[in-house]
Amino acid sequence: MSDTPRRGTRIAHIGIAVRALDELLPFYRDVLGMPTVPLDDADGASIAGLAAGESLVELLEAHSDDSPIAKFVAKRGPGMHHVCFAVDDLDGTLEKCRQTGLRLIDETPRIGAEGKRIAFLHPSATGGVLVELSEY
Ligand code: ZN
Repeated sequence: MSDTPRRGTRIAHIGIAVRALDELLPFYRDVLGMPTVPLDDADGASIAGLAAGESLVELLEAHSDDSPIAKFVAKRGPGMHHVCFAVDDLDGTLEKCRQTGLRLIDETPRIGAEGKRIAFLHPSATGGVLVELSEY
C-alpha cells in the first residue's frame, strides 16, 4: 500500500531472561565487546540492550514476581526467552497471522522497550519459540 521500499524481515533482537543483569552483562559487554544501548523498562522488567550489528541482545531482569520474565525464570530457569523480528508492515503481518489462524498474544500492537510498536505471537503458533514482531 505504501510507496516505502520493502526492507525485508530482519532479527531486531533476541531476548534473554536473566536472574540479574549484572551476572551476564560483563560477558556480552566486556568479553564479546558489544556496546550497550539504553532501553526503557517493559513488561515489568529492566532491560539491558547490547548491539550486535543491526540487531540487539536484550537481557531481561524481572522487577517483580508477577512479571512475565519472573514467571518464565521460575518455571524454566534463565535462558533464551524470545526472538523479535522487525517487519516492513506490522499491521499487515498481524492481519496475515490472523487470517492463517495463528494465535496472537497481542491482538493490537503496543509500545516496546525500543519505543517501537510491537506485538507477541503465541509460541504454540511458532514452533515453541516466543516470537515478537516489531515495526522497523
Ligand atoms: Zn523483545
